[in-house]
Amino acid sequence: ALAMEPKQIQAALDRAYEKYKGLKEGANADYIPVLAKVDSNIYGIALVTPDGKVYTAGDVKSEVSIQSISKVFTAAKVMEQSGPDQIFGTIGVDATGMRFNSIVSIEMSKQAFGGPEMNPLVNPGAIAATSMVKGNSRDDIFNTILSFYSDFAGRKLTVNQEVFKSESDTNQRNQAIGMLMYAYGYIKDNPQQATDIYTEQCSVSVNAKDLATMAGTLANGGLNPVTQKAVMKPDNVPKLLAVMATAGLYDDSGKWLWRTGLPGKSGVGGGIIAVSPGKFGIAVISPPLDEAGNSVRAQKAIADISNALGGNPYAIM
Ligand code: GLU
Repeated sequence: ALAMEPKQIQAALDRAYEKYKGLKEGANADYIPVLAKVDSNIYGIALVTPDGKVYTAGDVKSEVSIQSISKVFTAAKVMEQSGPDQIFGTIGVDATGMRFNSIVSIEMSKQAFGGPEMNPLVNPGAIAATSMVKGNSRDDIFNTILSFYSDFAGRKLTVNQEVFKSESDTNQRNQAIGMLMYAYGYIKDNPQQATDIYTEQCSVSVNAKDLATMAGTLANGGLNPVTQKAVMKPDNVPKLLAVMATAGLYDDSGKWLWRTGLPGKSGVGGGIIAVSPGKFGIAVISPPLDEAGNSVRAQKAIADISNALGGNPYAIM
């Protein structure tokens, strides 16, 4: 647990909030047209500890689309339904060394070329993971995913239909990825459906507190510390965190791990979650992204807060 008074934790959040409030670096993602219109000033910080306390600073009411952060929780669902080897043995758990939506990474991959495996946090692996979620119909599968995310967040989440529509209209590249993953046997059937459900899962609407509770559940071994619901098996959590450490922040995953030691995941909606096992889950939302696609303020605020609280699991405090 954190050897910290609540007052000190709150002060760390307040400091990071003030320090980066005026920062004007980065730009909203615009390859999904509607994301370019999101208010760039949204800036919220939330931290959840295993004893269920929620700390916040700034705007924790405004919602953004979860985007790639969803990949973590869909991979978790596959592990829960079919066991962790379903991820390890089919999609893989290695960094691709390529962009998150690289088609080359599929062509170079084990099934296609005998090359490296992928992981569930890049688009090819994520769409494959979505295809592995069990259910009786398209809607049943999506609802299974949405209620699983909701269990992590501790409230019923919903889809931002405008984002879903905007991305559905412009996701030809992801459709191609789904098709290619099917051609190589990573996806067993209905690749169009897998890409469609994946696109909808990316459009789930969350605020900083939702994301921090999701991260806090991972920090607490799969037991939601706020609702006390057992959301995932404790044994699966460290495996999921390992993939986040390997590939959670796109091509800057190594730099992020260097600075913080924290398994994390970012999304192009501007959110980042990070997990300090046994200590806290944290999330920051701020839409402007750097070149690698990671929120500028979120990276800085999480690194400052975690380092102030002794969150790095590799450091002896
Ligand atoms: N839905 C987005 C895509 O597939 C997610 C990207 C991201 O957040 O990295 O392009």
